[in-house]
Amino acid sequence: MEHYFDNAATTKPCAEAAAAVMSCISTHYGNPSSLHRKGLEAQHEMEFARQQIAAALGCKAQEILFTSGATESTNLALRGAAAAYGRKRKKIIVSAVEHASVKETMAHLETQGFQIVAVPPDKNGIYHAADFLKEVDAETCLISMMLVNNENGARLPAEEVFRSAKRRDPEIITHCDAVQGFLKIPMKTRTLGADLISLSGHKVHALKGAGALYVRQGVRLRPVLYGSHQEKGLRPGTESVPLIAAFGAAAGVLFPTIEQRYQKVSQLREALIQGLQKMDGVIIRDIPGASPYVLNISLLGYRSEIVLHYLEQREIYISSGSACSKGASSGVLELFGAKPEEVDSALRISFCAENTEEDVAALLQGLQDAQRELMH
Ligand code: PLP
Repeated sequence: MEHYFDNAATTKPCAEAAAAVMSCISTHYGNPSSLHRKGLEAQHEMEFARQQIAAALGCKAQEILFTSGATESTNLALRGAAAAYGRKRKKIIVSAVEHASVKETMAHLETQGFQIVAVPPDKNGIYHAADFLKEVDAETCLISMMLVNNENGARLPAEEVFRSAKRRDPEIITHCDAVQGFLKIPMKTRTLGADLISLSGHKVHALKGAGALYVRQGVRLRPVLYGSHQEKGLRPGTESVPLIAAFGAAAGVLFPTIEQRYQKVSQLREALIQGLQKMDGVIIRDIPGASPYVLNISLLGYRSEIVLHYLEQREIYISSGSACSKGASSGVLELFGAKPEEVDSALRISFCAENTEEDVAALLQGLQDAQRELMH
């Protein structure tokens, strides 16, 4: 039996997402730009998905653009806003623990003459809105802060930062990478105060290859790709209707159950923590206020990859650090205060509501056996 705890890397598509794909590839396979009935059917699928995602975010359907995933959404958001708003103002403030999609976009923007300020957490690994806000000045054109960190579940004070920065200077554009928060923790565009929000389908039981960008009405972006008129000309190219419909379908089933799933995942995470506390040599990064969907631990003295592959033999799937970095340290855990030997042995356990107590028991047993059998 499989025990899948790598949901921050990707999730298993839900039945509704799979059904939406099937319907779009077998029946509604038209090009949504075509004027005949087949085209309209496909367009209808896409617009329905747009409404479902907008409903989950509490925004207007016209404020949602479809992309190939959060990486593309973030590129469009940050490069598009920098091009539209960064002619005079050149300063961009980000958290130092962003995903590579933000970090590398910043590295690119730096080559375009922007000044990037990456704000780290304090020495206890806590982010304070004030540390960001003290960087905000008349030069600032953009602020980007993730909602939930993908490596340790830490929740960043995005709402406070965005709202305070906007109060101070409404011309500052705010972007939030909400990939690990969307449909997991309650969030609404109205309260978050972000002008731009990046989302990914495959992290929420839809499929790889579909994402969305929320663009608050009135915010201007320059396109990153050039082509036809699709997605208001901001994301030209024929839309992947099956993947978009799957994203909408997943949002449709997950949105009403955010609270229930949050409770269930919190209980599973708590059971895991209690089990881990009985073991020796385990560091548990139980960050106050963190998302219950992610727990980062270190099995001291055991390299992450060795443990990961040991568990894999029992069909237990976890991750070492961030999935996107293929096991290489992204530097995020260090910024949260982890020592090098703790980073080498870091394991990321990420849940979904389909996980069970049996999964947790199997994982705990696996980790205990790993400590015994992998003794060096
Ligand atoms: N942002 C965060 C926080 C992530 O965890 C990920 C995926 O790992 C991404 C962005 C990139 O998402 P996508 O795979 O849809 O490009």
